[in-house]
Amino acid sequence: MANENKKPLALVTGGTRGIGAAIALKLAQDGFDLVINCLNDDELAQEISQQSIAACQSAGADVYALAWDVSDYAACEAAVEKITADRGNVDVLVNNAGITKDGLMLRMKPEQFQQVLNVNLNSAFYMSKLCAKGMTRQRSGKIINISSVAGVYGNAGQANYASSKAGLIGLTKTISKELGSRGITANAVAPGFIDTAMTQALPEKVVEAAKQGISLRRFGTVEDIAGVVAFLASPAADYITGQVLVVDGGLAM
Ligand code: NAP
Repeated sequence: MANENKKPLALVTGGTRGIGAAIALKLAQDGFDLVINCLNDDELAQEISQQSIAACQSAGADVYALAWDVSDYAACEAAVEKITADRGNVDVLVNNAGITKDGLMLRMKPEQFQQVLNVNLNSAFYMSKLCAKGMTRQRSGKIINISSVAGVYGNAGQANYASSKAGLIGLTKTISKELGSRGITANAVAPGFIDTAMTQALPEKVVEAAKQGISLRRFGTVEDIAGVVAFLASPAADYITGQVLVVDGGLAM
């Protein structure tokens, strides 16, 4: 990538646990240095972050861990400025941070809808806009947005989440059209049910019913998603842009 004496730099939002931590580790194994973001800076979060950071460092990456709220534009701006000054341009941006606040639409409060949009979608716009400046200057970069099958098919009880994830697909395709001429690709990955804290909160009955609707009859692992993101981040995917890769084990929706 840009600077041949230095490893390429990948920034993973929400990179301390779940899918984000697996993506960070895989990118470290693939030769990237890393910026890992998370929201919480409390003791437990720090403990989890330390494990994730240590794993990436063991894989040979220089790791820069920064906690900030990706739904806050000013915080994103300050973080990208600091990262660029300390580590240089971001080569690969993975917009992974996400939350759920489920409920049926008729009962969903406007704040509940807006909060999920802010964290899952606005954040990706903020981070892509800010990181694209450096990518444009170096005329290369990859933006990978973690969407969801909920954004492709919709999902009862997730009006906010599905809207945010569908919005990410529109954002991805638009970025690919606006920045393709600058050597920047933008793609989305749409996971199905993946075994993380997000799905461990589901009742057992829901989990069993969901598995019956999956061709492979199992939830995906975080490594199933990390491998696809690593492929999109690699030179093997240089000619892929504006795409949505659904990684759901054959989910009937
Ligand atoms: P997770 O285990 O709940 O982890 C979420 C991560 O996002 C955490 O690192 C969290 O940081 C971070 N985060 C949340 N709000 C943030 C904010 N405002 N600013 C900065 N960081 C924030 O989630 P996951 O299951 O790994 O999911 C990762 C992504 O995959 C999400 O976008 C999710 O929607 C998507 N996805 C997941 C599944 C699934 O089945 N799990 C399926 C489809 C799509 P803290 O640790 O500090 O809270």
